Amino acid sequence: MRYVIIGNGVAGITAADTIRRIDPEGHIVFVAREAFPPYCRPMISNILAGSAELDELPIRPDDYYRSLGATAYLGVEATGLDLESREVSISAGANLAFDRLLIASGADPHRIEAENLDLENIFFMRTVKDVLGMVEALPKVKHALVLGGGLVGFKAAYGFLSRGIRVTMLIRSGFPLSMQIDQTAGEMIQAELERHGLEVRTGIEATGFEAGEDGAVRAARLSDGTSLECDAVVVGKGVFPARGYVPSAIETDAGILVDDSMQTNVAGVYAAGDVAQHVDVARRRPWVNAIWPVAVEMGRVAGHNMAGYPMRYPGSLSRNVIRIFDLDVMTAGMVSPRESEGLETAEGYDRRRHTYRKLLFREGVLVGFVLVNQIEQGGVLMNLVHQGASLNGLTAEALGPRFNVGQVMGRGRQAGTGYPAPAVGAPSTRHTANAAAAGSSAAVTTATE
Ligand SMILES: Cc1cc2nc3c(=O)[nH]c(=O)nc-3n(C[C@H](O)[C@H](O)[C@H](O)COP(=O)(O)OP(=O)(O)OC[C@H]3O[C@@H](n4cnc5c(N)ncnc54)[C@H](O)[C@@H]3O)c2cc1C
Repeated sequence: MRYVIIGNGVAGITAADTIRRIDPEGHIVFVAREAFPPYCRPMISNILAGSAELDELPIRPDDYYRSLGATAYLGVEATGLDLESREVSISAGANLAFDRLLIASGADPHRIEAENLDLENIFFMRTVKDVLGMVEALPKVKHALVLGGGLVGFKAAYGFLSRGIRVTMLIRSGFPLSMQIDQTAGEMIQAELERHGLEVRTGIEATGFEAGEDGAVRAARLSDGTSLECDAVVVGKGVFPARGYVPSAIETDAGILVDDSMQTNVAGVYAAGDVAQHVDVARRRPWVNAIWPVAVEMGRVAGHNMAGYPMRYPGSLSRNVIRIFDLDVMTAGMVSPRESEGLETAEGYDRRRHTYRKLLFREGVLVGFVLVNQIEQGGVLMNLVHQGASLNGLTAEALGPRFNVGQVMGRGRQAGTGYPAPAVGAPSTRHTANAAAAGSSAAVTTATE
């Protein structure tokens, strides 16, 4: 069996490891744009912040490909797929034949419409190479401008602030991380960042950049006609699935549509990770959840099925745990203001303890939550969202300090709700673009806006 895997991110390597456990003989070939050993992408901002060293990033040893018995084309891009001859064309000039193909090429950052976006010291923080460029620029950076308050923008801002650098963040919405959290938690995060020197400006965009004598950015022109001096810029305006080389015969919506086995509409061609679109269990519709744990889960399911060992993917759930100086935040499911309209909510804010807890329900079923500080019960709440269990009457209790997970689980059983399978994904039903369109025109996005 010839397996070709496009991308050596966590989805690709998890699939490869799984395949190798089931099929010791098959020929595994990687095509990967990045030559760095497989690494923990969410940690790259720790390099910027100075809280991690480069050698802490790899998640597999240097001899990974050899010990897996795989062939790896590193620093090489997949440029096209021929579904008839079942070959991948690559930038190194060869064609790679496959019996089973995994598309795990992740996501690329959105570029923005702004003049001189290619100036030196304007960064997209997606790869280890990007962040090394940022670290190299650090000695000259006095004022960094961060565009976007999503996860990447927020992590970039945190990194610069941790280095004692002044940061201005421009965000369209009223507070950072507005795709992941609600207004109260957003304001708590913003206050914490401001306490450490962040300046936030809302409702304003960068329209272009000006270069200094050295060719590096020295100012940004803003949509209100003013300009802002800065010597580094990070564009954190979201990501999109990296599928430009994928032919139109493979069905896509925002991402590549996959069924419960991670297979696309073309037999033997699978997709996993940030590039793939399955169903979100809380939203109950097709959705790209571009987060690490989802890429791991999808890679594992794809690997099993590619190697002939059936396994069903139950659907994904957006979630994140974030530490911001002295603030711990955990969030999952449908929490953002845009999504929570019409949901029943229960919330409690303890000003003295500096804690906040909000739960969101749809017809008695927990579909999202945000916890600020006191996040210990987050794992259990996440499981409850995943299970789609009815929790009528839980709300007030779950907000109190005596909230007890054991009781909740007992109540579920007594009420006969048990632990149902996640309410998504009939066996091998592909979650079509139409379904996505019916649910949301922007079934796009992602924890990494
Ligand atoms: C700064 C930052 C912070 C993040 N923080 C968090 C976090 O706190 N929590 C969380 O859950 N997630 C976080 N994420 C998201 C997380 O990193 C991704 O969800 C995860 O890495 C996705 O894994 P993947 O394998 O699908 O894709 P990727 O990790 O993107 O790997 C795909 C690989 O494929 C390669 N590739 C692309 N196109 C081609 C091609 N044509 N040919 C060959 N190779 C190609 C890419 O170069 C890449 O190396 C963060 C991401 C970033 C950038």
